[in-house]
Amino acid sequence: MMGTEPADQLAVRRANLSRTLRHIRAAGPGSRAAIAAATGLHKTTVSSLVEELLSRRLVRETGLERSGTAGRPGRGVALSPELGAVGIELNVDYLAVHGCDLTGRTVVERRVSFDAARRDVEGCLDDLAEAADRALAELVARGVTPVGLTVAVPGLVDVARGVVVVAPNLGWRDVPVVSRLAKGLDPALRVGVDNDANLAALAEFTWGVAAGTADLVYLTGSVGVGGGAYGDGRPLRGAGGARGAGAGGGATADARLLRGADGFSGEIGHLPVEPVGDPCGCGRTGCWETKVGLAELVRRITPEFAYGLGDGPIPDPQERIAEVRRRLDARDPAAVDAVTGIGRWLGHGGAILVNLFNPRVVVLGGYFADLADHLLPAAQAQLTRLAMASPAARCHFVASDLGFTAAARGGAGAVIERMIDDPTTVPADG
Ligand SMILES: [Zn+2]
Repeated sequence: MMGTEPADQLAVRRANLSRTLRHIRAAGPGSRAAIAAATGLHKTTVSSLVEELLSRRLVRETGLERSGTAGRPGRGVALSPELGAVGIELNVDYLAVHGCDLTGRTVVERRVSFDAARRDVEGCLDDLAEAADRALAELVARGVTPVGLTVAVPGLVDVARGVVVVAPNLGWRDVPVVSRLAKGLDPALRVGVDNDANLAALAEFTWGVAAGTADLVYLTGSVGVGGGAYGDGRPLRGAGGARGAGAGGGATADARLLRGADGFSGEIGHLPVEPVGDPCGCGRTGCWETKVGLAELVRRITPEFAYGLGDGPIPDPQERIAEVRRRLDARDPAAVDAVTGIGRWLGHGGAILVNLFNPRVVVLGGYFADLADHLLPAAQAQLTRLAMASPAARCHFVASDLGFTAAARGGAGAVIERMIDDPTTVPADG
């Protein structure tokens, strides 16, 4: 029957399915009548939409619930935990895996130390494929059917072609991650690759400490530093406009990740901040990440654990950070001095972001979050000093609570977003 409907009716149906699903995610389980009242859709339309979402296993029926004040109990509808997704972040010194169901509940989560410098591209891709196989099998074993998988990589990614164009800190150039990974996987599975900061920003926007904030910038704090920015489509006016923080759960439906003309925006770590500076992994000098990246923190505070030294086991980033924190807690003057200097540079870059985007919040990821108590005083002071607009004071840094799994979580989140944007991409049963 649906095959004979005109294309515009199909588009309307698809949009209404998406709207219904998005409403259920934001508002939680509710009756069909409550969904109709909240979305403005007709009750019979909602019933039909819910039937289709049930057949695609995107929602499930819950027990009897009272629908508003009408008094007549109706069956509730909730997001289904039967479908899920996997995200895997491959970074310089770790591989993070996150698997969750449609409701965002974590099913699988782990991080293993990894040394990209000692693995050639093929080796990295083998490790990725192995991690993917294992995570997908774990989801299935836990009763969750994976719909897709997204890989997060610190570099410029051609999302449409599934190719990492360049990832300086991994030493990658033109790596066809998606075609290589998809080879060994179920063809029904959606496989994608995206920039780590973009995916982490998606996770923050959906589930993080500043969830739903329309004007949000996320900063990764690992060896490389990248940024992901959300804007809500107003022509470059930033958070100075009418709306600021919204409710959680990605409720601000019109906010979108800003990707730029080729999808390469957010290379904040390579902002040239010093005309004659230290060499950067990208081949240039004086890039911001040479001032604030994790490698610089380690080099200055715990040089004996500096990146690229020795050939022993690679410590997980959190182990390196724990050692830095021990020295800070012991009030080692050199460590305090170094972290204050890095905090100042963090505020310097933050001011550039504030001047460009007028964000409401800059979410600090990775080690920035772990050491926020030490970094923030200097960073916030420098931000206030250097940002042009006086409402810069209304933009603040907040520490992410998603840690080094934000990008992997966002990888799973990207698959879920696509399911919610177009529920008809999920096959119906029978
Ligand atoms: Zn650079």
